[in-house]
Amino acid sequence: MSQPILDGMPRRLYGATPTRLNTWLDCPRRYRFTYLDRPQPPKGPPWAHNTLGAVVHNALAGWWRLPREARTVHRAGAMVDEYWTAEGFRDAEQAEVWRVRGRDMVTGYVQKLDPDDEPRGVERTVGLVHGGTSLTGRIDRVDHRGDELVIVDYKTGRHVLTTDDARSSLALAVYAAAAARTLRTPCHRVELHHLPSGTVAVWEHDDRTLTRHLDRADAIAAECASADAAFKAGDTGDARFPARPSALCGWCDYRQHCPEGLASTSTRASWAGLEPS
Ligand code: SF4
Repeated sequence: MSQPILDGMPRRLYGATPTRLNTWLDCPRRYRFTYLDRPQPPKGPPWAHNTLGAVVHNALAGWWRLPREARTVHRAGAMVDEYWTAEGFRDAEQAEVWRVRGRDMVTGYVQKLDPDDEPRGVERTVGLVHGGTSLTGRIDRVDHRGDELVIVDYKTGRHVLTTDDARSSLALAVYAAAAARTLRTPCHRVELHHLPSGTVAVWEHDDRTLTRHLDRADAIAAECASADAAFKAGDTGDARFPARPSALCGWCDYRQHCPEGLASTSTRASWAGLEPS
């Protein structure tokens, strides 16, 4: 049986995505449900806002993969229809309202794009090793502007994103550093493209701020590695994987299995994450 990693001992290279690291930070119990418990506890019903986000991402990725001559605004809207599902919506009527909104988001966004401006990557997987961690991630879009790469992350949620969101995002910093390493081109600029508002939140990292994010990712990964080893050794209890109730519990896929989460938030409809109609 494997043993928990001892403090101060060298650890093996640990593979992680920013999502995994952020899940650990948000709530160790949700981390256990998501990454360690097997069989995985059944999730709650799908969320309508996740359906909308997935369709918009798929349509934009599909649009860039079309041959240049097919990249029209009309085709972008048609791709939303092709990818559309009604998962998580209250009923067919609500789903239809949001299919049209999703279409408007995508066509409004594509109208401002130059279809000749070929991205360096679309849904591009990148990676790098930092300290004891092998970090990987999949980027919505990597642009090549001037001599540098730019990370583009699409957002479809209710809230407009700020410069601070771009600056503080561990995921965006990891993507920038990993894209630079994988694609052998400098990358410091990260952008959050919020489709519902048409706004873009921008941050220009420098090598120092990227390194600070990577050091933080490596430190969180060390905690994950230790928790994973403990879990394998049979230490699966609440002391090692405590519940961390917060406003996020209302959106947690595993809330039904978590007494603290049930106590801290009221049950939300699966379409509650959408803008009020
Ligand atoms: S409901 Fe809240 S406390 Fe429970 S696992 Fe989910 S995020 Fe953690």
